[in-house]
Amino acid sequence: MYTPSMFSYKRLQTLEVKIGDLLLGNHHPIRVQTMTTTDTMNTLATVEQTIRCIEAGAELVRITAPSKNEAHNLLEIKKELRKRGYQTPLVADIHFTPNAAEIAARIIEKVRVNPGNYADKKKFEFIEYTDAAYNEEIERIRERFTPLVKICKEHGTAMRIGTNHGSLSDRIMSRYGDSANGMVESAMEFLRIARDESYHNIVLSMKSSNPQVMVQAYRLLVQTMQREFGVCYPLHLGVTEAGDGEDGRIKSAIGIGTLLEDGIGDTIRVSLTEDPEFEIPVCLDLVKRYNNRKESSEEAESIKLPYSPFEYKRRVSTAVENIGAKQVPVVVANFKYADQLNPAQLHSIGYDYDEATDKWKISDAAADFIYTGNQPLSFALPGTLKNIVDAEVWDKDAVSQFPLFDLDGYLNTANKSSRLNFVLLDEHASLLKLKEEKNIVLCVKSDAENAMQSVRKVFVELASLGITHPVVLYTDSNKHTPDEHLIHLATETGALLLDGMGDGICLGFSKGAQLENPKVNGRTYLPVKDIYQFANNTAFSILQATRTRISKTEYISCPSCGRTLFDLQETTAKIRAVTNHLKGVKIAIMGCIVNGPGEMADADFGYVGSGPGKITLYRSKEIVKKNVDSEIAVDELINLLKESGAWLEPS
Ligand code: SF4
Repeated sequence: MYTPSMFSYKRLQTLEVKIGDLLLGNHHPIRVQTMTTTDTMNTLATVEQTIRCIEAGAELVRITAPSKNEAHNLLEIKKELRKRGYQTPLVADIHFTPNAAEIAARIIEKVRVNPGNYADKKKFEFIEYTDAAYNEEIERIRERFTPLVKICKEHGTAMRIGTNHGSLSDRIMSRYGDSANGMVESAMEFLRIARDESYHNIVLSMKSSNPQVMVQAYRLLVQTMQREFGVCYPLHLGVTEAGDGEDGRIKSAIGIGTLLEDGIGDTIRVSLTEDPEFEIPVCLDLVKRYNNRKESSEEAESIKLPYSPFEYKRRVSTAVENIGAKQVPVVVANFKYADQLNPAQLHSIGYDYDEATDKWKISDAAADFIYTGNQPLSFALPGTLKNIVDAEVWDKDAVSQFPLFDLDGYLNTANKSSRLNFVLLDEHASLLKLKEEKNIVLCVKSDAENAMQSVRKVFVELASLGITHPVVLYTDSNKHTPDEHLIHLATETGALLLDGMGDGICLGFSKGAQLENPKVNGRTYLPVKDIYQFANNTAFSILQATRTRISKTEYISCPSCGRTLFDLQETTAKIRAVTNHLKGVKIAIMGCIVNGPGEMADADFGYVGSGPGKITLYRSKEIVKKNVDSEIAVDELINLLKESGAWLEPS
């Protein structure tokens, strides 16, 4: 198995790595880190940004070194930081340039290499290798990579072998395809070479902009290391090009949080298209969930999982009305604690009533059900929205109203819906009694500290009993800040959805829970009307990030770094403003070409910096417009969307 425990919290045992004075892995606290976005040749700007990150809580700061000049300048940056009293270890980020890596490894505490481009150049060629030819390639990599390993060993420098889904080499792609397996093998080739030199000060990462691929790759890597070496090297977790705002936080929480829940991860970076110091509070919110979590002392369970944690396959369920089987997961808006409801309040969950025309306007992110506790709605609902109420107040003659029972209530009554009954369960419920029932949807909730794993256990039991009723994931948050709520809700439900579990999602707040929505720089931190809109947006964003229900445009935007060739934050905002009505279209916005075309394999369109003031536009992996002046590049992107039939005029 890939985790020490499927059903309780236990951290994965990893080797200890020393980065300057910082110890990582082997049960040390989960370290948080980020990366500067300044030009590495601008010593002062880089030093000042690094200090802002350290003051925010970063325990490691990465700086890009695209060539020998930047690598040399790391010495000036390090000297200035030490002069100002900051001892935080620094990491050089290397792509394509072994000579820059060899310089940096003599200067700072850690280097990150990307096995996809350290010894290979990407040309998108498919090459058939015989085993002998493949082994020759490995020897070529060994020759190229060993000098760096020796320098690191001599200078006590740590290394991250950081695989990116978006920049796998042609050689790996040809043999393993664009897969989690390919990502793992890409890192393992480099790791084997380092181990042959008895060098072990190594951290590994498996990043992707798709949380599903990312999670599968880390799990597979843990399993592969354990099988091959009997030990695991520490893991650096991150979702690349997660984007900004709530979507960036939700995607990161789903990818990183899913693994942390399973005890995997020794250091994390949340890549946001925002200034790097803003990444740190999100990292800290993620990590603090595990600071005092009690670890299980039990031996690993010996179980046969009814699903593969290494590939996505949705759990088989039987459709009940519009829930389950192959239908997209439904969203249930939870208004249990709301005061008297009126039609205007449905605006928060995607419905606007126009009195003049007596019509509802329904958005792409409109809830499918509204749960109102013991208060049935007294007004007519739009056809796509149905009301769930507590069984005691359910009116069996109301066409769009369905009851929610607890388990005993359901088993002990004859007064059930002939179409759809919801049954609320916790992880201790005796499931066997429900096996022969029809027309029920289970709402599974857990208040345990390891709620996600408790609910996972329910799914395993359902499978072992052969029960295929659809399941709605019912999760409350009792946190405070928007980020804490987002991280909690996204981790608890996203981790299950990534494994194909869940035919619906019902997010809410514990009774009396508050959404502190502070003002930052004069604007409200999250542009939401109330907690219901917040929960509804979060539910649709979680389904989008897990790729289980697409309701909006998807943006894959890099966090920017010293290689960035335009103002990424401003450009991302500009592109979002004109394309955010294109439901289902995936647009990548990348500061440079490093992960560019690879990540574009996942995106439908790409906007990539290709030189100062120049942008190259992609349709999937194909370059369509080269070196477009950045002044007109957003208009050209719209033209490309139009030419490709992906454009709709905004309504
Ligand atoms: S894709 Fe973005 S973050 Fe990555 S190297 Fe290029 S500019 Fe930097």
